[in-house]
Amino acid sequence: MAKQVAIVGAGISGLLACKYTLSKGFDPVVFESRDSIGGVWTKTIQSTKLQTPKSLYQFSDFPWPPQVTEDFPTQNQVLDYLQAYAHHFNLFKNIRFNSKVVSLSYEGPSDAEMEAWAFWSETGEPFAPKGKWNVTVENTSSRTTETYQVDFVILCLGRYSDVPKFPNFPANKGPEAFPGKVIHSMEYSNMDHATAHKFIQGKQVTVVGFQKSGMDISMEISTANGIEHPCTLLYRTEHWNIPDYIPWGVPLGYLYQSRFSELLIHKPAEGLLLSLLATIFSPLRWGISKFVESHIKRKLRLAQHGLRKEASNLRKRKVLPFAVKDCVTGKTRLPLYRECIHPRIPQLALVGLSVSVADLFTSEIRCRWLVELLSGTFKLPSLKEMESNVSQWNDSMKQSLGEYYERSCLGALQIWYIDQLCKDMGWNPRRKKGLLRELFEPYGPLDYV
Ligand SMILES: Cc1cc2nc3c(=O)[nH]c(=O)nc-3n(C[C@H](O)[C@H](O)[C@H](O)COP(=O)(O)OP(=O)(O)OC[C@H]3O[C@@H](n4cnc5c(N)ncnc54)[C@H](O)[C@@H]3O)c2cc1C
Repeated sequence: MAKQVAIVGAGISGLLACKYTLSKGFDPVVFESRDSIGGVWTKTIQSTKLQTPKSLYQFSDFPWPPQVTEDFPTQNQVLDYLQAYAHHFNLFKNIRFNSKVVSLSYEGPSDAEMEAWAFWSETGEPFAPKGKWNVTVENTSSRTTETYQVDFVILCLGRYSDVPKFPNFPANKGPEAFPGKVIHSMEYSNMDHATAHKFIQGKQVTVVGFQKSGMDISMEISTANGIEHPCTLLYRTEHWNIPDYIPWGVPLGYLYQSRFSELLIHKPAEGLLLSLLATIFSPLRWGISKFVESHIKRKLRLAQHGLRKEASNLRKRKVLPFAVKDCVTGKTRLPLYRECIHPRIPQLALVGLSVSVADLFTSEIRCRWLVELLSGTFKLPSLKEMESNVSQWNDSMKQSLGEYYERSCLGALQIWYIDQLCKDMGWNPRRKKGLLRELFEPYGPLDYV
């Protein structure tokens, strides 16, 4: 009998999981709690644009339409692109909207039996001989629930939707102690654009937090209110936002997304030669950081704004590639093999939890790897080997990310990571023509067509 696959979430990762499982002959069911596809892109503030250039944020077999000429498309353009993708690959027929997964329970072998397994799902294959998942789904319109039994679950819940992160304030020292109104950025993003504009107009606003949402919202407020009601931005940790992707005319991809750039950093299980090279080349890594820093200083006119002193902080840190810091500051790092499979949770995969500089790119290659696993192209190694691989990656991440280590993230190891997936699938990881291009050209989705 055909194996039943359930996918939870119809954001970018869920759409990809649906498309690729369909391509291997499965007939997945996608449960989406909202009434539309697109995940985080369905509700953002008006001015949100991609922060990754679209060449990196595109499906390998479905390029951006030629009428989108901007390098950083707007939220609406991203949504239109996702809609077009879902129509093109006929995905809507598999998606159940307003369907919130409220519980998952595994039915099959006992805990004691599972603890004795030497392989994931007992055999190292995705479908265990005895186990099934019960997926309980609530219809958000009718409030009725239904339970489905499936052979495999792919969780594509994203990292940024639905659950706002609020600090735990001491009693009576939180929002209730403030006479004004306190909201989370998610509430602001959920307002329609006219309501959001009315909400901030003419108000004295303080934004707390210095990452993507904080910056976008501050910009929106200062544009609406000008200098009459200046917006204040409060932050705990300073970091640098790169004003563009071509410092001194060199595309950042050449500096941080090429095999050569990866030679400059230590990698998990790299072997003696690569380890030596990473150590020998470390001054060059510093040189690249200084090169980018000089561009930021010039372009943002830090000296004119009296910010030169703080700028020297860059010297003290390992400068991480642009968005990398942004994706490593959360608080949970799950032990996931290939950033996708928990060795001790059978018949289940997570796509989109571990983030990268270009999430669409990594979610796509991860889905391709996953469906090759589901269709039997390769088997997973023993649990012991998987766990040792996971801890090797953790150690390596800890070493290279230092204070920013914690959250599931690929850091600057995207190519190295994708190489491992390619080898599992039996693909040649070297995708470029000629040694020089292989070494220096940035890697992106179109290299894996
Ligand atoms: C403002 C903003 C800008 C961003 N810009 C970039 C960028 O430039 N580059 C980049 O690489 N990344 C960016 N990201 C990260 C972005 O999250 C990813 O690029 C990508 O869209 C994540 O897709 P996803 O499908 O993994 O998750 P999501 O888009 O979060 O989708 C998860 C889906 O799961 C559904 N869901 C959750 N729980 C349940 C449940 N229990 N039952 C049923 N359905 C459920 C949700 O409703 C949602 O539709 C940005 C994120 C934000 C918030």
